[in-house]
Amino acid sequence: MSERTLVLVKPDGVSRGLVGEVISRIERKGLTLAALELRTVDRATAEQHYAEHDGKPFFGDLVEFITGGPLVALVVEGTRAISAFRQLAGGTDPVEKATPGTIRGDFGLEVQFNLVHGSDSPESAEREIKLWFPNL
Ligand code: UDP
Repeated sequence: MSERTLVLVKPDGVSRGLVGEVISRIERKGLTLAALELRTVDRATAEQHYAEHDGKPFFGDLVEFITGGPLVALVVEGTRAISAFRQLAGGTDPVEKATPGTIRGDFGLEVQFNLVHGSDSPESAEREIKLWFPNL
């Protein structure tokens, strides 16, 4: 069954020149791109995107980071796209959880600066796609 997921190449991924690498891995997996935009996000959108983390100790720093430079937002489509991209991304902590061969495992060192975001459930994907691409 085909589904859609919201992917972000976070500002650290953009500044490190890893946009092409991430898109290449998505395409080589067999997933397709339904939308793609380079954008610098405002605080309100960032806070809505990460609403589930509001109140946690890292929330303020996370919002600062996500709004701190251009990022690339994508809608990625394909069979089991949500899990498939989470597999490509690797675990949240690039050293302790993400394994080599994943985006975070290959390129990341710090939990905050872990390069990419991918929706974690069909409900999140629907909410996040509406937030980032209301006209899609
Ligand atoms: N994050 C952080 N410190 C933490 C946990 C998470 O800075 O202790 C950041 C990190 O960038 C992560 C994001 O917050 O990707 C969202 O966290 P979540 O647990 O939803 O992880 P993800 O779904 O991105 O793997």
